Amino acid sequence: MNAYSTRGREPVVSIADAISAGLAPDGGLYMPDAWPQFHAKEFDDAHTLADVAIRFLAPFFAGSALEAALPGICRDALAIDPPLAGFGKPDDFLLELFHGPTAAFKDYGAAFLTGCLSALPRGDKPLTIVVATSGDTGAAVGAAFHRKPGVRVAILYPDGRVAPRQAHQLGCFGDNVRAFRVDGSFDDCQRLAKTLLADADYRRAVPLGSANSISLGRLLPQAAYYAHAALGHFRSRGQPLNFVIPTGNLGNALACLLARRMGLPVGEIVLASNANDVLPKFFAGEDYTPQPSLATLANAMDVGAPSNFERLQALYPDPAALRGVMRAEAVSDAQIRTSIVRTRETRGHVVCPHTACAAEVLDRLRAAGAGGTWAAVATAHPAKFPDVVEPLLGQTVPLPAPLAAMLARPSRAQPLANDDVALRDLLRRS
Ligand SMILES: *Cc1c(COP(=O)(O)O)cnc(C)c1O
Repeated sequence: MNAYSTRGREPVVSIADAISAGLAPDGGLYMPDAWPQFHAKEFDDAHTLADVAIRFLAPFFAGSALEAALPGICRDALAIDPPLAGFGKPDDFLLELFHGPTAAFKDYGAAFLTGCLSALPRGDKPLTIVVATSGDTGAAVGAAFHRKPGVRVAILYPDGRVAPRQAHQLGCFGDNVRAFRVDGSFDDCQRLAKTLLADADYRRAVPLGSANSISLGRLLPQAAYYAHAALGHFRSRGQPLNFVIPTGNLGNALACLLARRMGLPVGEIVLASNANDVLPKFFAGEDYTPQPSLATLANAMDVGAPSNFERLQALYPDPAALRGVMRAEAVSDAQIRTSIVRTRETRGHVVCPHTACAAEVLDRLRAAGAGGTWAAVATAHPAKFPDVVEPLLGQTVPLPAPLAAMLARPSRAQPLANDDVALRDLLRRS
């Protein structure tokens, strides 16, 4: 199978080449040019996430340089089966995607992408992975690439706009993984990374790779965990599972849509945004109008111009058709706070501010009479956001062990001007 650019100006490339490039040379995002179709019963003997992923992803990689490596990559990168926990009511579930090394869902995509990039043949210059992060991506990519030979990572994050614990995590790798605190917003960081990746001349001098949610190498494994969750649920309940997904850059929710498109038993998909409400406005019928991002309590979702919207538009060029495939709701900071408290009281779960958006939206859906079984997606562990969660609940939230080990290390980040010349020089010099 091949991949095309959402801007359509480039010839198609293999999935392996699309993964190694990150962004298409014309500045577009790569999309697979076919959607394999599956029936749930084809997965009857696949129970672990890795086994589901090996089967589900095989058609994408057939005939590419990564075909033979795929099973090994899946077994390494997707070794943790995300639990579908009860969520306080008989038909409500919590899909816990936070059991990896940095306690957020981005660990899955980052580890899979690392596996792919490490399995691809490389020249003798090191590959530089440039990653813009609103908090969690950078740490997941750093953890996945730390001390891997032949690869170095430059993490760009908006100075002062990530939680203190997240900032600590971003700077604690050292060695081949460096953190830069950019004088700007997440959208600025994303623009810096995109501009650099789109510069073919520069990339000849400094080989670059992308690890943002724009990389197909992150999107595909995310689709696999939705397939895994929906299949497990379908086997036990005989019905599709509906999802509420905390959304920023739209990578996680798009992956869920892809799983549904490929025939997996996924029902409705509802996006939970924070106060950055371009998607809720679009799905409610307004034009798509990117905005400067607002800082909120669910900071990993502070995105005013979701990159993956371009992929959605490539799939559904007609806005009316696109509005038919999912819905979106906005959640204010005040509602995040009340949701964190209510979710502990009514559902017995302590959730992070992002997951609280999904819990709030699920409560709204149930109050409006929604039937069926629903999973709220838990995108990060609450212990990553103690400053928000602990005062509201009046309790401490114990750190999961991998996160505690990471936070015990010293942390350092270099300041970086919001300017692509500065970034170019820095990566060329060192
Ligand atoms: C990145 C992130 C999100 C948003 O995911 P997108 O794929 O960008 O929509 C939500 N919650 C957490 C905890 C995140 O780290």
